[in-house]
Parts: sequence; C-alpha cells; structure tokens
Amino acid sequence: MKPSISYIIRYSARAKSVRLRVSMQNGVEVIVPQGYDTIHIPAFVQEQAEWIYSAQQRLQEKMQRHKQKLHAFHDATAGYPCTEPSLPEETIVPQRRTLILPTELIIRTLDEVWLVIYQPSKHESITLTMSTVDKQLVLSGAVHKKRLCAQALATWVKRYAAHWLPRMAREISVEIGLPCADIRVRLQKTRWGSCSSHRNINLNASLLFLPEELTRYVIIHELCHTKVMNHSKEFWQLVGEKEPDYKRLDKALNPATQLVPTWLMM
Ligand SMILES: [Zn+2]
Repeated sequence: MKPSISYIIRYSARAKSVRLRVSMQNGVEVIVPQGYDTIHIPAFVQEQAEWIYSAQQRLQEKMQRHKQKLHAFHDATAGYPCTEPSLPEETIVPQRRTLILPTELIIRTLDEVWLVIYQPSKHESITLTMSTVDKQLVLSGAVHKKRLCAQALATWVKRYAAHWLPRMAREISVEIGLPCADIRVRLQKTRWGSCSSHRNINLNASLLFLPEELTRYVIIHELCHTKVMNHSKEFWQLVGEKEPDYKRLDKALNPATQLVPTWLMM
C-alpha cells in the first residue's frame, strides 16, 4: 500500500482535459477544465500514482544537481552581485489521457447498440459476458481497473468485427464481382483497411463504429485494389464504377475517425 498523494486542484480556462503537474513550488497539481466534475479527480490521481512517484523522484534528482551547480556558481562568482540560477521547475504531464469507459457501444455498421454493464466483484481480473438476446456486455471483476476494462472491451470489439466484417466483405465482393484472397481483421490506429499484392485484405475492427455506407465504401475501395494496387486515375475510375458516390464517401472518412471511441486504442 502506497501513501496517499496530496494535491491541489487548479481550474484552467484553457485546459481541454485533465492534466497533472509536479513542481518543487506547488507539489502535485491537478489542472482541470472549467466546470469539470471534481468527483473523478481522486480516481484519476490514484490511477496516475506510479507516474507521480517517478516524477517526484526525477524532480528530487534534478534538485540535487541544481544544488551542486549552485555551490559551483557561488564559488565562481564570490563577491559579485549576481542572479542565481533559477530553481528547477519540472512541469510534466502524463502521456496517458484520462480513460472514460463507455456505458454503451454504438455499432453503426450493424445498426446495433450494446449496453455495457460493470459489476464489481472480488476477482482480480475482468470477465466479459455477452448476451446476444438483449445486446448486453457484462464486465465483472476488478471493474475499477479501467485499463483492464478497456482491454476486455477492445478484445470483444475485435472478435465481433472478425465475425461480421469478413462476411460483409465476401457479400460485397460477390456483388461487385471483385474476388479477394484472405480477409483479416485487426485493430489499427492509422488505416481503415489495406490490400496486399497477394490480394489479401485487412480491415480495421474499428470500422464497426462507422456508418454502414462508410464501411461498405472502405471494403469496395480495398476490393478495387485487388485489380489496381495504386491510387491512379484507373483505380478511381474502377471505384467510381462500383460506387458512384465514392467522392463524398471518401471525404467523409476523415471526420468519421471521431466516431471511434478513444478507449479502443488505449
Ligand atoms: Zn487505397
């Protein structure tokens, strides 16, 4: 059991999310956006405990080096009016963003909404139970461990996507007359899909969170790559044949990134 961390809360008009700052002057500060519900702060600080301890340690070491420098400085400038080297002020923010867990998953591609229920118990791990009839995902166990919950949900999303996306792609493949080899599903940060020179297609599991027409467009786009590997005029012509509205759909893909929940990529 680690000692509890004391901290001060500072409201900032400019802050967009919760941040932590450790400095010699003020200790641990939690900087929160205006109007932020302080009820979340104790859990946030607890979650970042490891980071706070190591930041404090780094600061101590920096302070030691500063003291040594100060001595050397005084030796060198004895008798002269001068300003001292400034006090180290380490302002570091944790890399991790606050993790907000969902109460429902909006699977737009399949037009489904799944309810997420968290049931705390004494178990150290998380068990996810899926009820297809009433579209419920029940997470039980150490549900206070947010990262574990996010991992369990992400695993479920990946499996669900691995079940549905290849089926959808096979149907479209037959419909537009462009066969492909293997269809794989992965959770990726940067791409919606890809196509290899062996005509294997990779689809991003997070496509499930996109409207059906966009997922369909990504699949058509990748299937067209089985014929033309680049983004040449010839390629777009083929895409246009298979999906006349492709320009609008292609444009809509970028902003659609916002529909993918952030916990999925943590
Ligand atoms: Zn492409």
